[in-house]
Amino acid sequence: MRYDVIVIGAGMVGTSTAWHLQKNGSKVLLLDKKLPGSETSYGNAGLIQREAIHTHPFPRQISEMVRVLPNQGTDIRYRIPAILRYHQALLQYWKYSSPASVKKIEAEWQTLIEHCTNEHQTMITASGAENLISREGWLQLHRSEETLKSAIAAADKDREQGVEHNVLTIEELKAMEPNANFDGFVGAIHWLNSWQVSNPSALVKAYAKSFQEMQGEIRENDVKEITPEADGWKVFTDNGTFYSDDLVIAAGPWSNELIKPLGYDLPLFPMRGYHQHFKITGKNTIKHSMFDMDKGFVMGPMQQGIRITTGAEMTTMDAPKNFGQLNTVLKLARKILPLDEAVESEAWAGSRPCMPDMKPVIGPAGKHEHLWFAFGHSHQGFTLGPITGRLVEELIHDKPLTVNVEPFNAQRFSKS
Ligand SMILES: Cc1cc2nc3c(=O)[nH]c(=O)nc-3n(C[C@H](O)[C@H](O)[C@H](O)COP(=O)(O)OP(=O)(O)OC[C@H]3O[C@@H](n4cnc5c(N)ncnc54)[C@H](O)[C@@H]3O)c2cc1C
Repeated sequence: MRYDVIVIGAGMVGTSTAWHLQKNGSKVLLLDKKLPGSETSYGNAGLIQREAIHTHPFPRQISEMVRVLPNQGTDIRYRIPAILRYHQALLQYWKYSSPASVKKIEAEWQTLIEHCTNEHQTMITASGAENLISREGWLQLHRSEETLKSAIAAADKDREQGVEHNVLTIEELKAMEPNANFDGFVGAIHWLNSWQVSNPSALVKAYAKSFQEMQGEIRENDVKEITPEADGWKVFTDNGTFYSDDLVIAAGPWSNELIKPLGYDLPLFPMRGYHQHFKITGKNTIKHSMFDMDKGFVMGPMQQGIRITTGAEMTTMDAPKNFGQLNTVLKLARKILPLDEAVESEAWAGSRPCMPDMKPVIGPAGKHEHLWFAFGHSHQGFTLGPITGRLVEELIHDKPLTVNVEPFNAQRFSKS
């Protein structure tokens, strides 16, 4: 079968890309080995983060490194085999995390983030997914006066970038979330113009359904190999071979596996996170997602239950699950809310697709005509899927671009 465009990967990024292309006249095939929104775009914290205008640099202060090194933190842990395997990417990550570099990177990153809610809204409306969205904002809880004070100073500056917030006292927090115990906390920032999604996978599935309603095609196939042809691309899968003029790689943390045989070796590395749901009862119902800023985990109300998501674990994609970080987080979470009955017997784990310079790759592959990359959105791929999809559509259809994609080009690492 021949298509104008094949998109590989039906996470938030690939599904949004397929949606935009189909909507703008291309005949698109969206390929994934699983149903849309079954991997990282399933397991995230479900926040559409208008406030996320700052990146996540590598710890460079001695005090931070000393804190992380014993590997007992709730926000970040690591495994030695992953450090060895990704050492080059990590060195670059360290380099890109200097204050001067982060300032430049964040200015570029913000050109994407500023579009996140508007671009999601277009797709939410088209797919009739309004029931999955809450616009009450989310709560960033602080345990220390010092971190709260610096967060307030930063949030005040962020208003210039369109990010809205309120500072909350413990009394105000208790009034908003009467079931939660805020002992040990000193206050919070309420991010007002970020949104919560009650089932991230269902939102991707709603976007995928809208894509199908526009005659877009989805197949649950495992892509084994891609090869360039004189007039486009040939995609071999476990269940058939497909052809297209253009090909988009949007396979999240698996993207390198698909493009390495074509001679690309981008410094993409995974940052794992875990989640577990707990049955919602009259005693633990909450309205807002709450991020424990000083311990680095999120508690969010989802359709499946209260979802507890961990921070990052630097490990390899195929490493067995290690529940140490999640178990430590659960002890802290249970002091905030009663979490008596786990919904699943085993916690979920998935990997954020990260780049050393904390920016996604969006644009032409470089070495092949009509090959496009859209991956590496690390901590905010759920937020940035729709704007990425729009940009890839504009690139393929040779339209004026909503955002300058130069800072996100795939060739930037060959220069460093
Ligand atoms: C714990 C946690 C919390 C997070 N919280 C948030 C949040 O609140 N907000 C936010 O914006 N982001 C969040 N993120 C990050 C976000 O989830 C990711 O950046 C985003 O989901 C990446 O989307 P994606 O489409 O690139 O990748 P994925 O969703 O992983 O999709 C890639 C797809 O490619 C498919 N694929 C791979 N290889 C093949 C192949 N060979 N053949 C066919 N298909 C293939 C996979 O099956 C998969 O469906 C969080 C991440 C984690 C882990």
